[in-house]
Amino acid sequence: MYRYCPPLRDQAFVLHELLGTADVLAALPCGADWDRATIDQTLAEAARFMAAELLPLNTIGDREGCSVVRDADGAPAGVRLPAGFAAAWQRYVAAGWPALGSDQALGGQGAPSVVAMAVYEYVNGCNPAWGMIPGAMRGAYRLLRAYGSPQQQRDYLTRIVSGEWTATMAITEPQCGSDLSLLRTRAEPRPDGSFAIHGSKLFITGGDHDMAANIVHLVLARLPDAPPGVGGISLFLVPRHLPDAGAPGGLAPAVNAMVATAVEHKMGLNGSPTCAMSFDGSIGWLVGQPHQGLRAMFVMINSARVAIGAQATGMGQAAHDSALAYARERLQMRVAGGPARPDLAADPIVLHADVRRMLLTQKAHVEAARMFTAWLALTLDIAETHPDAARRESADRTVALLTPVLKAFTAENATLVANLAIQVHGGHGYVRDHGVEQIVRDVRVAQIYDGTTAVQARDLLSRRVLADQGRGLKSFLSQVREDARPMEAFFREPLLALCDGLESLTADIAAAQDDMAGASGCDYLRALGHLVCGWLFARAARVAGHCLAEGRGDGFHRAKQATARFYVERLLPQAQAHIAVARSGVASLSALDERELFGESA
Ligand SMILES: Cc1cc2nc3c(=O)[nH]c(=O)nc-3n(C[C@H](O)[C@H](O)[C@H](O)COP(=O)(O)OP(=O)(O)OC[C@H]3O[C@@H](n4cnc5c(N)ncnc54)[C@H](O)[C@@H]3O)c2cc1C
Repeated sequence: MYRYCPPLRDQAFVLHELLGTADVLAALPCGADWDRATIDQTLAEAARFMAAELLPLNTIGDREGCSVVRDADGAPAGVRLPAGFAAAWQRYVAAGWPALGSDQALGGQGAPSVVAMAVYEYVNGCNPAWGMIPGAMRGAYRLLRAYGSPQQQRDYLTRIVSGEWTATMAITEPQCGSDLSLLRTRAEPRPDGSFAIHGSKLFITGGDHDMAANIVHLVLARLPDAPPGVGGISLFLVPRHLPDAGAPGGLAPAVNAMVATAVEHKMGLNGSPTCAMSFDGSIGWLVGQPHQGLRAMFVMINSARVAIGAQATGMGQAAHDSALAYARERLQMRVAGGPARPDLAADPIVLHADVRRMLLTQKAHVEAARMFTAWLALTLDIAETHPDAARRESADRTVALLTPVLKAFTAENATLVANLAIQVHGGHGYVRDHGVEQIVRDVRVAQIYDGTTAVQARDLLSRRVLADQGRGLKSFLSQVREDARPMEAFFREPLLALCDGLESLTADIAAAQDDMAGASGCDYLRALGHLVCGWLFARAARVAGHCLAEGRGDGFHRAKQATARFYVERLLPQAQAHIAVARSGVASLSALDERELFGESA
């Protein structure tokens, strides 16, 4: 059975005991209203709402999927979502959840990112396909808040904040995926200052659907005088329905010249409408400056990358909850030295050492992802709103450095965690009835969208580490070293060794004359991801130890210590293997011409 229990206890540990979130927020203008009680009440209500409204729709969404509705002539005329999805959206809007993380001045509730991400984790544990549209809307909100004109903010942003309208990120085209310099969509100026958008977009999440009155597409396109390459891309706001003050609801009833020509038949996330869109002279308006669209769009992309940490955590938790429940019920063979349960026909598989290894691997990765996401989201809150400019700048450097790591590392680990859920279920995991194969299918794409793992690795090395002369990395490494030095040797030694290893690997990559960065980037990223998580687990173990020593601790804290030690003993050593692989550079990849290496058959 697909199981998911919103992890309120662990969330409270991470936010309050580990990060002291309410105290950090108290120093920020965005956090004045978010004391511990308010955070806990919000999370408890979010857990209740998502479990009641979204969880029951998860399997339905997977089985039913989305479909293009056709008119009498067979032409595409909209997209239908799975049963119950639109009604759940209406209740989500009525309960005010879309507005949670938005500014109060825009009608939002002003929750800081760290709280919004915790809630988004629950959305994804309950129903990741449904969660795709609210995920995109958070990025659209952040983009339009930063770059939208006052009129765009008044007419569009407030409706995105309330959830009355949804939004999309329209970047990808058939020939243009990771390489945005290949983008072809055109924007032609119109006499009234608007633009006519022409082009085909692919894989657009929420490109069309029946759950909101309007959809605000944020579209990358080129102006006629655009220079080639990524420096010639502009951003446009293109609504599905144009404003019309005289029409009911203030919207023209006819659709702006655009159509969702197809809904992709995907491996997973079937309840999410991933649309091929045709913009056929659709009317839109420039957002920000001409040819500066990519910079603006990166606000949305980076928001999505942080949100993937929450998405991976939610889906990983569901995989772990499902596997654990099954492992406690399933009886097979006797444990070494057993029987452990002579009253039963065989011992529950949760007692076998190897099943315990799989469950602990899941638990460790999920808890690591939760800590990483919460800590980075809180750092983002500091970067955006701390009154001290130096604190903002330092936090901003950390966010810039670690956003690609959070995105790629947690997405890859969540796939591993989901795969382990199948392994724990044996053959019963491979068949549909238990629901865990859906998690593998749903989570896999997190390594692809919003930039593949290789794209994150390129971004990390070229823009966040090397271009910055390693300043962001150095400051993060000194934070880890400072924390690690007083720790017991079990945590201190591997963390310090990893800091040294990453530092010297960085120097080698910076000095390399060949494409060592390209050949080593993914291993570099994983090593850094392990360092972040190993460091956070070491801190978590220290906090748990204090609680136990002071008589405030319980079984939860003992489990936290055990999981931290498992991470350091069994998972963290992989980081040194990644460093060793990264050091091998391009040699084994480029020994032969690709035709000779792979043969001519393809
Ligand atoms: C379910 C789903 C939802 C999506 N939602 C949206 C959305 O809402 N809006 C939107 O605009 N797009 C969306 N996308 C598109 C997604 O962002 C792209 O699929 C992704 O960025 C990768 O582009 P691509 O598929 O063209 O792969 P490609 O760019 O063709 O990459 C293919 C492979 O080549 C590798 N590669 C490419 N260049 C390099 C390089 N320089 N170095 C090393 N490796 C490289 C990649 O890592 C990858 O392994 C979605 C996709 C899916 C599947």
